[in-house]
Amino acid sequence: MKYDQVLIRFGDLMLKGKNRHTFISLTTNLIKQNIKDLNLPMLKTHDRIYLKLQDISQEVIKERLLRVSGLNSFSFVKVTNHDINNIVDICVELVNEEIKEEVTFKIETKRAYKQYPLTSLEFTKEVAPLILKRIKPKLTIDVKNPKETLYIEIREEATYIYLKKIKGIGGFPVGVGGKASLLLSGGIDSPVSAYLAMKQGLYLEGIHFESTPMTSIESVQKVIDISKKLALYTPKHEFLVLMVPFMKIHKEILTNIPDSYTITIMRRAMFKIAEKISNERGALAVVTGESVGQVASQTLESIRAITDVVRIPILRPLLTYDKQDIIDISRNIGTYNISIRPFEDCCSIYVPVAPTTKPTIKRCRQYEGYIKDFDCLIEEAVKETKIWVIKPDSNIDLSLLGFEMKEAWESINK
Ligand code: ATP
Ligand code: MG
Repeated sequence: MKYDQVLIRFGDLMLKGKNRHTFISLTTNLIKQNIKDLNLPMLKTHDRIYLKLQDISQEVIKERLLRVSGLNSFSFVKVTNHDINNIVDICVELVNEEIKEEVTFKIETKRAYKQYPLTSLEFTKEVAPLILKRIKPKLTIDVKNPKETLYIEIREEATYIYLKKIKGIGGFPVGVGGKASLLLSGGIDSPVSAYLAMKQGLYLEGIHFESTPMTSIESVQKVIDISKKLALYTPKHEFLVLMVPFMKIHKEILTNIPDSYTITIMRRAMFKIAEKISNERGALAVVTGESVGQVASQTLESIRAITDVVRIPILRPLLTYDKQDIIDISRNIGTYNISIRPFEDCCSIYVPVAPTTKPTIKRCRQYEGYIKDFDCLIEEAVKETKIWVIKPDSNIDLSLLGFEMKEAWESINK
């Protein structure tokens, strides 16, 4: 079916007044950012957006709109005037082309144009017999729970006719909720966590702890490739990653800390650094991909011992998620195949045989004393952190750039 327009809905927000206005304008900007290369004429009304479809495929539009947080739903629509015969003709054409099976069905009219001579119900009663006698598929009318609904919306400027409401990602536009840091590893969880936090309106800056050359450069490449996907959800299609050189700290921990505590102490160091960076960058919270119980570092005792070192709020969007649900989202956002590339980062390489599941704060503090100038090392890592700006089409192949991160960064930022 060749549709005329895409009708975009922001949703029934509880927000009122100024908030609603900010919300709609941020969502509109996200839409514009995602379709700007398509050059589609856009019409904005107080509660909707209409895009005039030219020869762009539905699949392309769908993929673009499914990156916009704050967008509630959208429909591909036929557009006509108020003439009943025209409306009936289009309804018949639409149903005959789009519905192939015998299904339950209803017609629903919404008359937003109050000067129109018929009410919604009167209009449905008038057109239903005219439509039903001309349609080919055998449809059973079911007004309570139909499989297919033919929507007819009569508005002042035109009548819109469609069959499907495609669910958008919903939530709030990225940015409306303020800025937070994201602990971004190359694993499956943290990109999904990022997506959920952005969808809830947070603007995120990634923090990645890289231990090259102790860990492979490919583990950093994963983070870059994941960031290219996350960039698609941001207002400027840019995702910032603060790359923390973590190798020295990592090495000191592996050398000086008893095996069962290495992961705990490493994570305490990560949070200390993340808090300092967040404060410098004006990020009000730290988002992680942790959930309760997944691994030794995510028992309640571990979470307590680890977050003992910081005061900044830690947000864990995946707290109650099942792994399979996380995997499903990661496939949808296109990060799964990157995350499963078999390269280890500092949290997964040299994992002790028996990490403690019940670390105590007292022991953590005692063991940290085994590392000379631990706090200086932390300060140094913060100071040497570099900001990488990643865009969806960034062409960064670290394996071509040698194995020194410093060189890689310099050559990318020349
Ligand atoms: P993920 O799949 O996101 O790596 P995970 O289940 O492997 O998570 P952990 O390795 O224990 O779990 O990491 C828990 C969280 O800590 C990650 O989701 C991420 O937020 C953060 N994290 C771990 N390693 C790093 C790293 N090298 N750089 C930045 N953040 C990290
Ligand atoms: Mg991990």
